[in-house]
Amino acid sequence: MGKVLIIGAGGVASVAAHKVAQNSDIFTEIMIASRTESKCRALADAIEAKGLVPKGSIKTAHVDADIVPELVALFNEYFGEAEKRTEPCLVMNLALPYQDLTIMDACLEAKVSYLDTANYEPKDEAHFEYSWQWAYRERFEKAGLCAILGCGFDPGVTSIYTAYAAKHHFDEIQYLDIVDCNAGDHHKAFATNFNPEINIREITQKGLYWEDGKWVETEPLEIHKDLTYPEVGPRDSYLLHHEEIESLVINYPTIKRARFWMTFGQQYLKHLEVIQNIGMSRIDEIEYKAEAADGSGPVTVKIVPLQFLKAVLPNPQELGENYEGQTSIGCRIRGIKNGEEHTYYVYNNCSHRAAFEETGMQGVSYTTGVPAMIGAMMFMKGLWNTPGVHNVEEFDPDPFMEQLNTQGLPWHEIHDGDLEL
Ligand code: NDP
Repeated sequence: MGKVLIIGAGGVASVAAHKVAQNSDIFTEIMIASRTESKCRALADAIEAKGLVPKGSIKTAHVDADIVPELVALFNEYFGEAEKRTEPCLVMNLALPYQDLTIMDACLEAKVSYLDTANYEPKDEAHFEYSWQWAYRERFEKAGLCAILGCGFDPGVTSIYTAYAAKHHFDEIQYLDIVDCNAGDHHKAFATNFNPEINIREITQKGLYWEDGKWVETEPLEIHKDLTYPEVGPRDSYLLHHEEIESLVINYPTIKRARFWMTFGQQYLKHLEVIQNIGMSRIDEIEYKAEAADGSGPVTVKIVPLQFLKAVLPNPQELGENYEGQTSIGCRIRGIKNGEEHTYYVYNNCSHRAAFEETGMQGVSYTTGVPAMIGAMMFMKGLWNTPGVHNVEEFDPDPFMEQLNTQGLPWHEIHDGDLEL
């Protein structure tokens, strides 16, 4: 049905590429392009070796996604001249949030549609919000192109769960709590489940939630409570700022309070505290005396401590093999239907081991890569391709929810249970 170009060859891209290849009736041509082409080739070879697509059919390329002209040249080469294209063309941005705007710029120039899983974040400021990407609305609309924002699990499936609840179970959603539990054990003293730099920047920020029409700020990890997760049990859950809340409270203005909770174990938090106390989570440049590669003596180089830390921490892509347990992510919603108050809990549990056996990656990459592929499928099928820049809850949730059940992330519902919140 259409051509897809995946940018990135990390954990999330690996899962998405597997799932895209499993649906080759929809995705007729696949290219994987990233900073390190050898990783793209290794990924393409692994997928082809599984017999999901014919050998040699997945194209790969090098691209620096920080450089717009490089991206434009690649898009034009792969998708061909815009006027001569006969099928839908989509770029899936599964690199890092730093590249969102350059990739969107290149999509506009080469006239292709866009999808991502995380909102833009400037490299030199640990701060994320949608305003930078929403500023592209008019340009995408005028160009007749579609940009699908935040199509992972959270944001992504959690936003679609909310849209589904609003469509089928509530006249008015009043209280929304997104709950994200990773009850897995990777047997490492400390590791992050996706890109360590992005993950640590997110968790060490101040908390933020929406209440009575305004944002309420908390100290980082200040608010926490035990929440009980299906098949997992109680886990200490911490209130964090998370990007989907920003668009959900606009798209569902009846929401009186919206919060996001994530579980952390004591061991993880102890390491995080030490990392912060010794300055390893800093994102500003420091000078460091290193040995010159040619052995000619000491040279002063500039490094960012958090990027250095990333280089010594376990690679999230390599956690899968010994990862046990599961993730449990969902939405707990309270609201009004036919004049009566109801509660609704919709969630998915995903086994790290099953994710690894299918794609070679752990559950957190899996729960992000599968929805990214389904979003791309929605675009290819013409179900989600309204011109403009859209958060996923703006589209019809039903066909996406149907695919979740068949593509590896089945969901479950509890009506009128105790939400604990
Ligand atoms: P990884 O670090 O594993 O992978 C990132 C990939 O992007 C790497 O292949 C990297 O290349 C490539 N890359 C980085 N910079 C550039 C560049 N300038 N040009 C080209 N390629 C580049 O990250 P993850 O797979 O863990 O995460 C991917 C995305 O998914 C992130 O944006 C993350 O925030 C998001 N995410 C979203 C979630 C959700 O539920 N919505 C949950 C988890 C993650 P190289 O290999 O050379 O380093």
